Amino acid sequence: MRRMTFPRRKWLTKHVSANCGVGETLVQWGVLIDADCPRCGEEEDATHVWSCKQPEAVERWNSAVEDLAEEMKKQGTPLEVTEASCASLVAWKTGSPMPTIPRRIQGLADAVEEQTKLGWPKFLEGCISKKWRRMMDHYYIRRGSMRSGKLWAIKLVHKLWDVAMDQWKHRNSVLHETDHKLLTQKTDEGIKNIWEEANAITRTIRPRCFNTTTREDVEAQEFCKRKTWLNHAQNMLQRYERKKEQQQEQQG
Ligand SMILES: [Zn+2]
Repeated sequence: MRRMTFPRRKWLTKHVSANCGVGETLVQWGVLIDADCPRCGEEEDATHVWSCKQPEAVERWNSAVEDLAEEMKKQGTPLEVTEASCASLVAWKTGSPMPTIPRRIQGLADAVEEQTKLGWPKFLEGCISKKWRRMMDHYYIRRGSMRSGKLWAIKLVHKLWDVAMDQWKHRNSVLHETDHKLLTQKTDEGIKNIWEEANAITRTIRPRCFNTTTREDVEAQEFCKRKTWLNHAQNMLQRYERKKEQQQEQQG
């Protein structure tokens, strides 16, 4: 883990201990009302961030796995090993049957079998079967290569974290998009309501901000300006109402 930058290490440590900002944890903190996945709406736990089957999530997974395959190729990984691990990751994500593993590479089928027992989420977390490393050592020695299975395994784990991290980023981008949509909706409703209130007040006595612009002009502005205008208008209207109450009290 020493090779990683700090935020990434922190993220991974938290995720592996199922303590990151994923639905269930947020519910425990009371931040969210429910633990639904922002991408597919299913219940979300730490593993779901990776297993989510929303089409765009699957698309991103597949492309991240393609990058992983490229990296494995660079490490002198035999094609069968790359294909077996990548196809297994894709099968796990999509819930389709696990691929058949060719027997040509000694130890590959064993490594895949043990990884399936350990679980493919564990593979992503960097908890990979020792049989991968042993298989690669054996492969390199047979080919007279100076490469080591240990280094191969370290590089693999780093690349796997990229796959995992990309899903986490995607999940968050969808969540923020949804939040933004809700906020926009709330702001626009607020503008509609406040204009209805303001239109019920005589023009000469209502707050000035309703006379210096029109509802159409406010609504035509970009989101930030709409939001600022609404805050200001709400304050002005409150002040107006307090003043009216005071006057009524004095008169009464
Ligand atoms: Zn989901």
